[in-house]
Amino acid sequence: MSELRQDPTTREWVIISTERRRRPHEFDSASSSKKEAASNLSEYSSDCPFCLGNEYLSPHELASYRTFGTKPNSKGWWVRVVPNKFAALSLDYGDNLASNEKTRGINTDFTGYFFPRAMEVFRVKPGIGTHEVIVDTPKHNEQMSFFSDKQAQELFLMYRERYLSLNSNPKFKYIIIFKNHGVNAGTSIVHSHSQVIATPIIPLSLRNNISQARFYYDEVGRCIFCDMIQSEIVDGRRIILQTDDFIVFHPFASASPFETWIAPLSHEPCFANVSVEKAKTLGVVVKKVLKGMYQALNDPDYNFAFNNSPIADEKEDYYHWSLRIIPRLTMKAGFEIGTGMSINTAIPEETAEFMRGFIKNL
Ligand SMILES: [Zn+2]
Ligand SMILES: [Zn+2]
Repeated sequence: MSELRQDPTTREWVIISTERRRRPHEFDSASSSKKEAASNLSEYSSDCPFCLGNEYLSPHELASYRTFGTKPNSKGWWVRVVPNKFAALSLDYGDNLASNEKTRGINTDFTGYFFPRAMEVFRVKPGIGTHEVIVDTPKHNEQMSFFSDKQAQELFLMYRERYLSLNSNPKFKYIIIFKNHGVNAGTSIVHSHSQVIATPIIPLSLRNNISQARFYYDEVGRCIFCDMIQSEIVDGRRIILQTDDFIVFHPFASASPFETWIAPLSHEPCFANVSVEKAKTLGVVVKKVLKGMYQALNDPDYNFAFNNSPIADEKEDYYHWSLRIIPRLTMKAGFEIGTGMSINTAIPEETAEFMRGFIKNL
């Protein structure tokens, strides 16, 4: 069981993860493995828990898209969802909290905040939530940049389906869907996979986003993201792709090189409210952008994550979802750590122009 701890100086929550705990000596940076070149990999790896035929190596599946008549936890699938074996959050409320609050005799009501002792400033909540893994493809060596349109469509349909299966649980306040690709993006598993985490809190950085968007909506009467998208279209220099439904651009104030946003042109607070057809189109658009990045930046490590409204505000008009791709091309340095501000060494107008050159031929 994980534990949520609040930094009393920022009010941001941190997940202290017991499931994925590493002992202090395991942080030796020399031991981290390098990314294996995809060209050295084959379609199947006997010890990979995500490979077709190795279903027994992963927990029981929660959902899958599979050939009619085939059984769960057997071959026949092309997208498969399993609980994360090393879940950051879970619904099992065990007794092994990181700080072992039982021995301190504090209240364990998961809806409340805990103050472990009178006058102490440290707040704790049990890590209630879920953490799922979506295996994006049955093939060990297939990167998302090279998926067929059909595979990309099905994956994004599954994203939508998993969101809609979790958002009715009153314990959850926010659902994040994301993907890590490469060691510098936080994963050492080469088999392409995505993750879904439902949290019992709304992360503070998101709350800041939300309050800025609410403020703008109250002041101006429009969605800040719709206005931002219109401004990007009028300017045009930072757009790398526009379809009937989506716009892809490097934001005006990109925090890191090649930061890429993909947003719907029509106003929509939450990704999971989009139609099946639009979810499929999005999959193809994202795949295309990733393929462009693969070619332009030589297979960069990257993260992408949906930025959605909180569950309670899925129908509220002040928010507008986006999917943000961050290639991991630079490291946070002293200034970033000391201030929380970023220094971006690339100019978004130039990176967007560079990317357009690759995307237009795809
Ligand atoms: Zn595999
Ligand atoms: Zn909007």
